[in-house]
Amino acid sequence: ATNPATPAINGVDATRTVPERFTRFDAHPGYQQLAMMRQGAEQLGLVDPFFKVHEGLAGATSIIQGNTCINFASYNYLGYSGDPRVVQAACDAAAHYGTSVSASRVVSGERPIHGELEQAIANAYGVEDAVAFVSGHATNVSTLGYLLGPKDLVLHDEYIHNSSLVGAQLSGAKRMSFSHNDPDALDALLSRHRHQFERVLIVIEGLYSMDGDIPDLPRFIELKQRHQAWLMVDEAHSFGVMGATGLGLREHFAINPTDVDIWMGTMSKTLSGCGGYIAGNKALVETLRYFAPGFLYSVGMPAQVAAPSLKVLELMQQEPERVTQLQTISHYFLQQAQARGLDTGHSIGSAVVPVIVGSSPLAAHLSHALFEQHINVQPILYPAVPEKSARLRFFLSCEHTQAHIDKTLDVLVTLLANAQR
Ligand code: PMP
Repeated sequence: ATNPATPAINGVDATRTVPERFTRFDAHPGYQQLAMMRQGAEQLGLVDPFFKVHEGLAGATSIIQGNTCINFASYNYLGYSGDPRVVQAACDAAAHYGTSVSASRVVSGERPIHGELEQAIANAYGVEDAVAFVSGHATNVSTLGYLLGPKDLVLHDEYIHNSSLVGAQLSGAKRMSFSHNDPDALDALLSRHRHQFERVLIVIEGLYSMDGDIPDLPRFIELKQRHQAWLMVDEAHSFGVMGATGLGLREHFAINPTDVDIWMGTMSKTLSGCGGYIAGNKALVETLRYFAPGFLYSVGMPAQVAAPSLKVLELMQQEPERVTQLQTISHYFLQQAQARGLDTGHSIGSAVVPVIVGSSPLAAHLSHALFEQHINVQPILYPAVPEKSARLRFFLSCEHTQAHIDKTLDVLVTLLANAQR
């Protein structure tokens, strides 16, 4: 409504009322969506599966609501989060450096442990240098967002993580996706579009966290070389998991590490800390150190966060049997699930195995019913995956036992049979 008695300021009537839907948080589309989801869940008698509180260390088992549960919801792949040697490294670092570095690294936040961690990451990859960000998500957002611009093209697997999508959007580059793990589809896009753009970046992941499958890396390398594009591999889930000693896809495929332009990974999984990294050649890493906004304008990683990851990198070299054990137990899970007729999609049985059940309400129901029997596994619901492929997503750790898996799968099969009756 306008008040004719009030003079307009710069042609705008200052008393004009703004509709409430633009001033209230509970009118925001996000809140509306949440309210609808909750109402739907209540009608179906489903319990909210999110924000479950773990009361101690989340490993192969975890205490939730006072009960010790078999836990398949944490990506503590090599069981190092909570390892006394890793915890001690964090404590020592905090005692020595304090709990915050109190500035961006570029100004006065730099500590010796940052360089030590980055050198250890670069050594693990066999590349010139690495840079560590305080968040894995921010690593992708900042790296893609900074490196590319409106004259460039990002070609990514359709299942790429949100952080890479957001980074690509931020960059202003043209963005196209190709079907999951389909180098032929990528080849066709490159043949059609490469020449219309300046830089072209292909983004894939080392181990897809919803499906537990891996890309044919040598084929992607061949494509990126032939079409003169950059290749970025997000190893959030594959580092520590793939390869005989956990060094990721480059070890698994025995490729030359410099054939991938941008190696990305996170400290939050195997490395038992928090943050992300980019590893590659000096020019790439130096550019990001000086200009990537999520690095430059953000506080340096606290020493007690850097120290555990540095320690894990050292322990991984001494204890390759943990990787073997993880691979053995993951294969056991896959094989036992398949033997019981469960749908494990394309999982190769390395640390991540989904059991696809087909609808979000069923996945949520099964997760809760398992939880009531002290088995913790997260449901993955629409829109994170297509509705018809809602699933339970099992993260394996080298500390899971065959008994954990046998019990879990037996309970799950019974619950499924009851649900389908
Ligand atoms: N990339 C991938 C593939 C991820 O799955 C995740 C989150 N698990 C990230 C990046 C972001 O990492 P972080 O959770 O350590 O911020």
